[in-house]
Amino acid sequence: MNKKERCQLIQTILDQLFPSPEIPLQHQDTYTLLIAVLLSAQCTDQRVNLITPILFARARAPEKMIQLSIEEIKQIIQPCGLGNAKAKAIWNLSRILVEKYAGKVPDSFEALEDLPGVGHKTASVVMSQAFKQPAFPVDTHIHRCAKRWGLSKGSSVEQTERDLKRLFPKESWNKLHLQIIYFARNYCPARGHDSSTCPICSQMRQL
Ligand code: SF4
Repeated sequence: MNKKERCQLIQTILDQLFPSPEIPLQHQDTYTLLIAVLLSAQCTDQRVNLITPILFARARAPEKMIQLSIEEIKQIIQPCGLGNAKAKAIWNLSRILVEKYAGKVPDSFEALEDLPGVGHKTASVVMSQAFKQPAFPVDTHIHRCAKRWGLSKGSSVEQTERDLKRLFPKESWNKLHLQIIYFARNYCPARGHDSSTCPICSQMRQL
């Protein structure tokens, strides 16, 4: 099977397994999604989903967030890890949103990546999931799967993102990144995987 055929097979299987993948991080709007994605760095989505209702009950808009102190934010988000850095980033980016963007989250990669605590992956998630712009946020799960499926050499997440964007049609990126995350979580763990029963690798071998 060449790479193109592998991609088509992978996409067909993912469409069967996860026809309408939901955004895993609970949120009410673009701002709450941005904060949830920032909190998810080195933390599970499940844990973030436990903490964000507590945080958003206190402040679910940047104007409210900056009325809290960094210490108060830190106390709430501590279970997500990196409490100091994340609390500072949340407070500072909220201040910038209020002062520079009238309290709205900007809809460009450049403006998002300029915000404290927001890297390319976080910006990609927001561009994809909130603004519906084509983006391919590559997390550790997608990075692992792309390497195992022989779609990327996996030297870095940046390289994996470039390879996947080249291989899959632009209009599929937003759905596909969620489908691969769900597949990886359910079938393709970092350690211990059963290739004889796996819906993707077992089929790739048969063709
Ligand atoms: S066999 Fe399945 S679980 Fe293992 S690498 Fe392939 S896709 Fe992942």
